[in-house]
Amino acid sequence: YHLLAIETSCDETSVAVVRNGTEVLSNVVSSQIDTHRRFGGVVPEIASRKHVESITVILEEAIAEAGVSPEQIDAVAVTQGPGLVGALLVGVVAAKSLALALDVPLIGTHHIAGHIYANRLIGEIRYPALALVVSGGHTELVLLESEGRFRIVGRTRDDAVGEAYDKVARALSLPYPGGPHVDRMAHEAEDAIELPRAWLEPESYDFSFSGLKSAVLAEINRANMKGEPIRAHALARGFQESVIDVVTVKAMRAAREYGVRQLLLCGGVAANKGLRARLTELCEEAGLPLLIPPHSLCTDNAAMIAAAADLKWRSGEFDTLDLKAEAQLSLEDWSVGTAVVTE
Ligand code: ATP
Ligand code: MG
Ligand code: FE
Repeated sequence: YHLLAIETSCDETSVAVVRNGTEVLSNVVSSQIDTHRRFGGVVPEIASRKHVESITVILEEAIAEAGVSPEQIDAVAVTQGPGLVGALLVGVVAAKSLALALDVPLIGTHHIAGHIYANRLIGEIRYPALALVVSGGHTELVLLESEGRFRIVGRTRDDAVGEAYDKVARALSLPYPGGPHVDRMAHEAEDAIELPRAWLEPESYDFSFSGLKSAVLAEINRANMKGEPIRAHALARGFQESVIDVVTVKAMRAAREYGVRQLLLCGGVAANKGLRARLTELCEEAGLPLLIPPHSLCTDNAAMIAAAADLKWRSGEFDTLDLKAEAQLSLEDWSVGTAVVTE
């Protein structure tokens, strides 16, 4: 069977065709980063318009590249939320039209379930598993007791990791999105400026990154006031070390407490070299199997949406044509087997 998936939750227009749940036949991603860069971040109205401009072309490209005919598509999956509502709407409308035209089921899919199940495209997942989700809008520890069952055991109380990276990068006058630049500078640095770590309550799996971000801004202000040069590399290194320390220590502690058989890293920040290396090291020491998707499957793409939609395809949970884009869709509520099937 073939699932066609559409992802338009933020600033990437993406369409993928995936065979039998895991075989990626095409995964076309058109990024709007160049358009948004001069504004220093994603401008929602522009994002929606760009999705409208590119969705038809990307759809045709993905089908052509997959080498399938439209009649071979068995279901259409689309990111229903969370994300920018105007951006999501473009994908949802396109998916409904296609499902109607081809007379196949429609599967509304959760964006973060997609980030997590990107790992299914590279290997078998062993349950119970723990996912460390680090993206532009989310920082969460998600326990998967069984396939498609999501329980959030920790989440950020303020900024997401990717958001903190982008804000720190902006303060250091680096281009948007800043994560990859801060990552590179942290690796080039000769030393690090020691920055605080927000551990929160001893038992907590929650995160907080606004204090760390403020500490970076305070250091930049201090240097500016004294007329000293800003030690950008050392700051990037100190920032990255604090982030990596906190997220990896909490993930390993949760993995132990819940007795999981596998750790899954995912989300755009999973592209971070330092984070990948540290987590790999810690999991090897602990004898815990770890999956990390390649970079192209860490940042937003439609193949991961197909991988998550496959859970609902196999359980026969489909949506009707009145599916609505939802800016704040809950991950736990999207769990397989919990849907209210209307038909
Ligand atoms: P969400 O998935 O929470 O809705 P999003 O889709 O906007 O948010 P992603 O596309 O998953 O986010 O990830 C984008 C984020 O990843 C950006 O904040 C970007 O700076 C960050 N990022 C990308 N590469 C790296 C890297 N090497 N190091 C750190 N951060 C990175
Ligand atoms: Mg993006
Ligand atoms: Fe994302």
